Amino acid sequence: METVVSGIRSTGKLHLGNYYGAIQNFVKMQHEYHCFFFIADYHSLTTHPTPQNLHENVKHVLVEYLAAGIDPEKATIYLQSDVPEVIELYLFLNMNAYLGELERSTSFKDKVRAQPNNVNAGLLTYPVLMAADILIHRATKVPVGKDQEQHLEMARTFGNRFNRMYNVDYFPEPYAFSFSDKLVKVPGLDGKGKMGKSEGEANAVYLSDTPEIIRKKVMRAVSDSGPTEPNQQKPEAIQNLFDLMKIVSSEDTYQHFDQLYNSCQIRYGDFKKQLAEDMIIATQPVRERIQEIASDTNYLHKVATFGAEKARESARKTLTAVREFIGFKRF
Ligand code: AMP
Repeated sequence: METVVSGIRSTGKLHLGNYYGAIQNFVKMQHEYHCFFFIADYHSLTTHPTPQNLHENVKHVLVEYLAAGIDPEKATIYLQSDVPEVIELYLFLNMNAYLGELERSTSFKDKVRAQPNNVNAGLLTYPVLMAADILIHRATKVPVGKDQEQHLEMARTFGNRFNRMYNVDYFPEPYAFSFSDKLVKVPGLDGKGKMGKSEGEANAVYLSDTPEIIRKKVMRAVSDSGPTEPNQQKPEAIQNLFDLMKIVSSEDTYQHFDQLYNSCQIRYGDFKKQLAEDMIIATQPVRERIQEIASDTNYLHKVATFGAEKARESARKTLTAVREFIGFKRF
């Protein structure tokens, strides 16, 4: 059976980008593959969270994984920091990861632009840590959104480089995976790029947002003064809202508003109202379970402990082999 690994950074609550880009695939894949889903708390350190924030954010992700339907009996759910073998592999991979290729990564360049005062080494080697997360279980499939494609390419490069260097055929090539024909990119509400935690509160709709908050955010989403010519190309902000509708609404609803746009009859108020209601419906089952699971500390403890054991067992096997390839020997 093929092995699957994926994780989400614990830098806050999960949003619709995480849900449609990654988690929906996690939930489906757990029935068909040998799955490891982790909470990337080491990765979250690049933004320097306070100890309290760190813990709260890990809890958000753990709770929301479970609320979305990941079953800890089927898939292994664990905290990245419970598996220190990942860090050892990260160190080994770092020895063959080169400054030039790390600096060329699009996400690194974006981060340098976004946080010029905190360009730390962890940020630069972020793709190496991600490669270690994947290679530690020798996974072949990685359910992620479109934004992670380049990181997967780097994970293949690092795995292949290790194989060549030690003349082994140990790490298989991991590929990004989605059940839909293309990798998903969920746009944000600010009229520009993707939905993300670092793009500001108003840009993202969180799985835990109440219906009132969702309505407020969507009604304030960036739009324009409306089309002036029939069948004109939609500007980015409007296209983004249509892309969101494509994800959460029925095909009929989408077509209805698309036709209104094309005939210049669209009223953005109605369009946004519909979009908000469909987002509320799409997230309702998850939202309801979040409350319930968050208060069950006993259950969360059990899930994390059980997952840590299973993940470490798999990681230890890899590390034992890797240390031997490299030449570490007992005296
Ligand atoms: P991150 O929140 O950056 O740790 O991303 C965690 C997972 O969610 C990764 O698989 C991302 O590809 C996915 N993801 C995050 N934002 C989006 C988005 N706007 N559209 C699609 N997938 C996303």
